[in-house]
Amino acid sequence: MKTAIVCGAGGFIGGHLVKRLKQEGYWVRGVDLKNNEYSSSIADEFILGDLRDPVVCLNLFDRKINEVYQLAADMGGAGYIFSGNHDADVMHNSALCNINMIKCSQNFGVDKIFYSSSACMYPEYNQLDPDNPKCSEDSAYPAAPDSEYGWEKLFSERLYMSYQRNYNLQVRIARFHNIFGPEGTWDGGKEKAPAALCRKIAKAKDGEAIEIWGDGNQTRSFLYIDECIEGIRKLMNSEFSGPVNLGSEEMVSINQFVDMIAKIANKRILKNHIEGPLGVRGRNSDNALIFEKLKWKPSQSLEIGLANTYFWIQDQIFSNK
Ligand code: NAD
Repeated sequence: MKTAIVCGAGGFIGGHLVKRLKQEGYWVRGVDLKNNEYSSSIADEFILGDLRDPVVCLNLFDRKINEVYQLAADMGGAGYIFSGNHDADVMHNSALCNINMIKCSQNFGVDKIFYSSSACMYPEYNQLDPDNPKCSEDSAYPAAPDSEYGWEKLFSERLYMSYQRNYNLQVRIARFHNIFGPEGTWDGGKEKAPAALCRKIAKAKDGEAIEIWGDGNQTRSFLYIDECIEGIRKLMNSEFSGPVNLGSEEMVSINQFVDMIAKIANKRILKNHIEGPLGVRGRNSDNALIFEKLKWKPSQSLEIGLANTYFWIQDQIFSNK
């Protein structure tokens, strides 16, 4: 039986990944600072532990571990990442998790390690035009991410790649582009735009206005969680190390995105544009490389995943009342 450690198993993507690895017959050890908020983990073991502590990391390797999935990070949506108030913590906390886990993976002879990077590492200067952002993998340098979160991701990508070069540790790196879906954080300050907008619309009455940060003309693409997990597994099972984009190419403006959710909710929703932390002006995944290397790319329409997510958040709101 193959064995895997999922770091960040109490989080959104890590939680879904544990379920997938269990379905595939893995023995799974999850680790996180916290339990998953929305479902109890089906990992064979779930360790509540802080990956900034090297001893906690060391103790995870008491048996042969085939694969490590390093998803733990101090992260959140624009309200968390772009406010500037969490920069030191984001860099310090996430870098320590990565430094400790890659070192232990090398020391204990792990077969492969997956690292979740982010589209936030791409340079801001290529993402100023909302209609024509450039995020091909080879456009990463000269580096100029617009957040410390993006700089830490870039540093850690290089950290993982240097272990592969110097120690021949097999590394796989994906750059996620806005992953969304059920069981993602939807309130409390760390939620990302899809969950925040679903929550606002679920709480709004028909004909009411919701607040939107910026003019709503900023563009993004959003990838549904199931396709993200599929991409992680395909990359891990391939000979390709990456870094490679894992995102959707269906780019929408935030205003269009709100209209899509309002249609799903069957409500008339007005838009009140206010100031707020925004991030880059435009961003879209470029899937040429993933398709070339894996003969696969995400293909599900945004609307399908969005409906699942909206109704899950609506249930959360009304069952918590
Ligand atoms: P998440 O916040 O739901 O999960 C991250 C988990 O890491 C959390 O449960 C958190 O408690 C845990 N963690 C943080 N610090 C830790 C520590 N010191 N020790 C142990 N656990 C710790 O986020 P997510 O959306 O599931 O993201 C997973 C990974 O994917 C992260 O590395 C994130 O940067 C990356 N990513 C996510 C997106 C996205 O759209 N969700 C986009 C790009 C990159």
